[in-house]
Amino acid sequence: MGRHIGPVCRLCRREGTKLFLKGTRCDSPKCPVDRRDGVPGMHQYRRGKASEYAIRLREKQKVKRYYGLFERQFRKYYEEASRRAGNTGDALMSLLERRLDNVVTRLGFALSRPQARQLITHGHILVNGRKVDIPSYLVRPGDQIQVKNREHSRRLPQENLADGGPPVPDWLDRTSTEPPEGRVSRLPTAQDVGLPVTPQLIIELLSR
Ligand code: SF4
Repeated sequence: MGRHIGPVCRLCRREGTKLFLKGTRCDSPKCPVDRRDGVPGMHQYRRGKASEYAIRLREKQKVKRYYGLFERQFRKYYEEASRRAGNTGDALMSLLERRLDNVVTRLGFALSRPQARQLITHGHILVNGRKVDIPSYLVRPGDQIQVKNREHSRRLPQENLADGGPPVPDWLDRTSTEPPEGRVSRLPTAQDVGLPVTPQLIIELLSR
């Protein structure tokens, strides 16, 4: 699993949008995207009009950073999506959205994808009653997502859900907050992605 270890707020500022990489801080007035204009770095005001290539590159980077992927992993998702029937952009977004770390975040068990990844790799998350410690695991309709029945496994997810948790997208169903449990009701579509993005621009870049 790729992992960015530098300052994550720079990533959001570079993309000019909130990527929600820091949990509760992202919704607070401290979020730098809400407070500062421009991209990070000394020469931000010298940049001219974005080229067609730059627009497509930024769309791809935005999605990669939102899901916490490196280039090689992202290309594998693209290759998988291009083998599927139908629109490749929609298939790509659906595959990314089905990642277990994304599902754990969207159910509100974790405040961010990095936190979800830690819960998963430390063995606290069960899918259909069996431990799954792979953040890239792709969920399927009908899958039950639970937190292991141990006090130290449930402490953090229950704290995160103490106020009822964030709104859950249509394709997921949070069946209980104590213990934290959820279900995948259907496959996600590109419209279910919680990020303003145009998948077609990414496909135009990757298929060159
Ligand atoms: Fe930082 Fe979160 Fe704001 Fe992004 S959305 S800049 S990670 S506080």
